[in-house]
Amino acid sequence: MPTMRAMVLDAPGRPLRPAELPVPEPGPGEVLVRVRACGVCRTDLHLVDGELPNPKLPVVPGHEIVGEVVALGPGVEEPHPGQKVGVPWLGRTCGVCRFCRSGRENLCDSPLFTGYTRDGGYAEYTVADARFCFPLPEGDPVALAPFLCAGLIGFRAYRTAGEGKRLGIYGFGAAAHILAQIARADGREVYAFTRPGDTAAQAFARELGASWAGGSDELPPVPLDAAIVFAPVGALVPVALRAVDKGGVVVLGGIHMSDIPSFPYRILWEERVLRSVANLTREDGAGLFARLRGLKVATHTRPFALEEANLALAALREGRLQGAAVLVV
Ligand SMILES: [Zn+2]
Ligand SMILES: [Zn+2]
Repeated sequence: MPTMRAMVLDAPGRPLRPAELPVPEPGPGEVLVRVRACGVCRTDLHLVDGELPNPKLPVVPGHEIVGEVVALGPGVEEPHPGQKVGVPWLGRTCGVCRFCRSGRENLCDSPLFTGYTRDGGYAEYTVADARFCFPLPEGDPVALAPFLCAGLIGFRAYRTAGEGKRLGIYGFGAAAHILAQIARADGREVYAFTRPGDTAAQAFARELGASWAGGSDELPPVPLDAAIVFAPVGALVPVALRAVDKGGVVVLGGIHMSDIPSFPYRILWEERVLRSVANLTREDGAGLFARLRGLKVATHTRPFALEEANLALAALREGRLQGAAVLVV
């Protein structure tokens, strides 16, 4: 039986373990993908730290997968062998629940999530549901990987934030660095908030077109129309609410966040909206990849070998990354 290299989470709280696993076989409706690059997402940290309920264990993490199709399971015609594909977080939906039937498959009652409730891309091969793979353009797999979650979730959060001109972003990591470039191309003003004193991240945000960058303990120079909070820090929720104008929207882009402190009603009053985004739909992917066509959005990546996954996770946890960590497989 052919085997592959993989990094495996046996239980939350433990480091990933390098392992030789059998190459998985694609079942009906699935494809086998040779992984070339897999981004490291904050969600992977939440998984490793035990902050997400009921993972498949052991599990191969990773849901920002770029690779090519090498074998088809029964019944699959597309994507074809040799096709370059991206495999995102949304691994499968039921297609029949009331959410799936109303254009909200991101909220499916019985979904599978890549690298969480099914094996993901911290490995040489992975199987994926053919219907949930995105065909990708040619290009460096490492540079493409961050689009598969940071880009997708960022884009969903961006669309949810509405059309307002002044957009704040709290937490200037992988998602923010992609989103800032799209927002600038759309003629928006970007206000970037980092950890207080993180002047390197603030300079990075300005390089990517932010009109203003400062610490999350500062108020922006003008009231914002919308703010997206990517940092998993509940204390930023009232901070962002205070930064948006009347009618402003605060969108929470993470899957997990520390507790939100109580706050006075007056910072929510005047029709400010506070909401989260969860997961993605395939339509978000179609929208993102269509928007990227003809746009020069550069991803800033730091490559790591597959066996260095624990190092990549540590760098993300400690906020030592500008842009995105990507495992090169
Ligand atoms: Zn469903
Ligand atoms: Zn992710």
